[in-house]
Amino acid sequence: MWYDVNGDFMNDLIIGSHVSYNSTEGLVGSVLETLKYGANTFMFYTGAPQNTIRSSIDMELTDLAHKTMKEQGVDIKNVIVHAPYIINLANDKDEEKFNFGVNFLKQELKRTEMLGVNKMVLHPGSHVGLGLEKGIQNIIKGLNMVLESEDGPIICLETMAGKGTEVGRTFEELSEIIDGIKYKNRVMVCIDTCHMFDAGYDLSDFDKILEEFDSVIGVGKIGCVHVNDSKNILGSHKDRHENIGFGNIGFDNLLKVIYHDKLKEVPKILETPYVSTDGGKDRTYPPYKQEIEMIRNKKFDVNLLSEIRNYYK
Ligand code: FE
Ligand code: FE
Ligand code: ZN
Repeated sequence: MWYDVNGDFMNDLIIGSHVSYNSTEGLVGSVLETLKYGANTFMFYTGAPQNTIRSSIDMELTDLAHKTMKEQGVDIKNVIVHAPYIINLANDKDEEKFNFGVNFLKQELKRTEMLGVNKMVLHPGSHVGLGLEKGIQNIIKGLNMVLESEDGPIICLETMAGKGTEVGRTFEELSEIIDGIKYKNRVMVCIDTCHMFDAGYDLSDFDKILEEFDSVIGVGKIGCVHVNDSKNILGSHKDRHENIGFGNIGFDNLLKVIYHDKLKEVPKILETPYVSTDGGKDRTYPPYKQEIEMIRNKKFDVNLLSEIRNYYK
């Protein structure tokens, strides 16, 4: 159960968005951004997502962030780190690159642990021509090198859209990876609504999709939900996120995922695109406060977002 600053009851929904993280403000900056959106959880990259340059972690700022989270009803167990997406465990053609990825992930897990976070989302990778089966075996090999014991943060493998040679497009592929992991308690799955839809899972019948997931992997293995609408059609294998209710999945179908009984304990994270406030190409305004408000109200409000989303008109 959640309470807002005034001690008023807020609904049980665990929801937040991707937020920024920088070395000057550390985790405090991420928490303050989260609170601006009226969220009660968040996800962040511990540095630029497209590179592996990382600064050291300021423990004083981390402690302050934890204190603020406690005061504001943000439960640290629902907070997520996202691994940089340039890491590709599926391809071992360049051994040096593969080993670099493994070592970087090990360090990233340590950083995640230092920040007090328990879950890290990871894109399984792309096999880049090696073939799906080899890709899966490489991911298993890499993850078993990264996960050296039963203890430490959990890696949530993300469901992918199937763009190019991405591995993890089907529940079966993810299940095969998990089967090969030695310390299975360290691996879960992050379901991404845009990715599943683009991969061909029809979210207009989410109960059926979840049943399928349950029989292939087990619903208990869902550690995170990425909530995004999709710019493209079912099965397009594109992976382009859209603001909630403005895409082809639609607001009501997304609500069914967000409020699904079996996913109640699972954090929901928005990764929808920033918007432009002046109709220009520069999309510098985060839509999360408005999107979270719509989700909490369970009502799509085209005006709420259109105001900050001029280009949509
Ligand atoms: Fe992701
Ligand atoms: Fe995602
Ligand atoms: Zn995506």
